[in-house]
Amino acid sequence: MATSRFAPTASGRAHPGTLLAGLLAWLDARRSGARLILRIEDIDRERCTPALAAALIGDLDWFGLDFDAVERQSEHAADHLAALERLAALGRLYPSTMSRRQVTALGRRAPDGGWAYDNSERDTPLPDDWRSADIALRVRLPEGRVAPVDEGGVDLEQNPAQSFGDPVVRTRSGGATYHLAVVVDDHHAGVDRIVRGRDLATASATQAALRRLLGWPDPVYRHHLLVLESDASGKLAKSHGSISGDELRQITPERLCGELARLAGLADTSAPCRPRDLLDGFCWQRISPADAVWDHTKLRDSP
Ligand code: GLU
Repeated sequence: MATSRFAPTASGRAHPGTLLAGLLAWLDARRSGARLILRIEDIDRERCTPALAAALIGDLDWFGLDFDAVERQSEHAADHLAALERLAALGRLYPSTMSRRQVTALGRRAPDGGWAYDNSERDTPLPDDWRSADIALRVRLPEGRVAPVDEGGVDLEQNPAQSFGDPVVRTRSGGATYHLAVVVDDHHAGVDRIVRGRDLATASATQAALRRLLGWPDPVYRHHLLVLESDASGKLAKSHGSISGDELRQITPERLCGELARLAGLADTSAPCRPRDLLDGFCWQRISPADAVWDHTKLRDSP
């Protein structure tokens, strides 16, 4: 049986983009019989509080999504540490003091629109006291192209050691970063299928390179459309919570689901429905390849 997961970050309540990603991961798993794990990503303890995690879980339940297991990433610190030990034993870890601002000043764009690191600290030896030292650690990635497979044909191929540069895998405070935690948690949960938004497609090659260093196989990916919202200046961006969780809850979950089904290409109209009503007609060929724009006023103002 395949194992899939939905892994939202608990830095806020669910927004339309979260619900679309959850809906598509849920439909994919329930339709194919895969086991589906909800992993609440909460390793950033400042942004991700237990109260937000509980509210997010409540939002998903309200919307009509159920899961075969619920995990919290913050409970996996021992696994993250074991992976760091392994990378250290392989001679791949090195300290990095370059700040975000210094990386930006290097002036080379990365595939996600951020800034690439130049691997200039690779020769810095890992100090013996690295476990307790107040330093960030990067992992020296192997050179070469990595091409994880996206079932929907999204091109994931990169030479991540160059396109992004070596990733930070441990922060100064000693915690695992996003890339390391995702790779370790997916492996330990037996995840072999990852359905997630297209904004994360460019992270796949770095994650695959890390996975290979750790000796673990790649999952199959499916990256899907995003829901965009316009910000105050009218610029479209990934839906990120400009609509508050409480505001979203003023609409019924059925109307929300109907609108998301229409935006995703699963329905011609936004007739109210529950996720389970969409199961029969679900297949990826019907899902729109183009990002969709969320018009909250339309839902809010119509009865
Ligand atoms: N937690 C990440 C997010 O909410 C997704 C992690 C992943 O799917 O790899 O954007």
